[in-house]
Amino acid sequence: MSIQKREKKPGWKELPEGDLIIGGGTASGFKTGDWRSKRPIFLKDKCIHCLTCWVYCPDSAIIVQDGKVIGYDYDHCKGCGICYHECPVKGKAIRMISEKEAKAKNTVIAKAEGPKQP
Ligand code: SF4
Ligand code: SF4
Repeated sequence: MSIQKREKKPGWKELPEGDLIIGGGTASGFKTGDWRSKRPIFLKDKCIHCLTCWVYCPDSAIIVQDGKVIGYDYDHCKGCGICYHECPVKGKAIRMISEKEAKAKNTVIAKAEGPKQP
């Protein structure tokens, strides 16, 4: 039986640098929502605009205008579902759907609307 030499692994000094956030305490410049597997869907008719979801969202991804929720910043929403969990409305004013389902729906809508005008 032969003894094989182990391949030398790179040390931490050889590892490539990751992203750097140079500005103070913000990730707004990074589209952190691109690894989301689920997304919230806003059910406007059920919402009582209590803003509980806005308070609890860890990514400031709930868009509020004139004191009312109007939607989500999907560039930064990570799909954690906290907004859905905390929504106090019976039956919830938020629905969580898979990204796969969201993409399929967008495809259906795009097909129904026809080709975009240049
Ligand atoms: S799913 Fe999470 S990150 Fe996205 S809007 Fe809701 S609370 Fe914020
Ligand atoms: S927690 Fe629910 S009811 Fe309250 S603002 Fe958010 S979506 Fe609307």
